[in-house]
Amino acid sequence: MGACQAFGPSPTLGGCISLLWKRWRENMTKNKDAIKNKIFYLIDFAISEQAIHKDNPYIKRYIKIAIDLSKRINFRLSPEIHQKICKNCFSIRDSKNTQIRITRKKVNKQIKKYLQYHCLFCGNIKKLCLKS
Ligand SMILES: [Zn+2]
Repeated sequence: MGACQAFGPSPTLGGCISLLWKRWRENMTKNKDAIKNKIFYLIDFAISEQAIHKDNPYIKRYIKIAIDLSKRINFRLSPEIHQKICKNCFSIRDSKNTQIRITRKKVNKQIKKYLQYHCLFCGNIKKLCLKS
């Protein structure tokens, strides 16, 4: 019980654990917003760096760190970010390294349109639904 007294006046073990749980959750929600800001900053920084210094060897690493951070906090990257980067080989999409096609598929007797992003570096295909 000696360690418990450091966290507040509640002497029981159950109260101690609930207090610890509450503090951890508060910390996590604070950290999540900070980490989300870090992810957006890293991706924007990598794109701006690609425009200025094309042969910077750390551009792919910035994107890898951003994707790893998003996995750690269970944050799903938005489709706008997927249009800009390839999640498989961590490269920034360009008119030279991507092929974009429109494909149609029948789902529940309705024809849906998809945008198909084909990365020419790694061959990965990302499909994004088009709103009609
Ligand atoms: Zn790729």
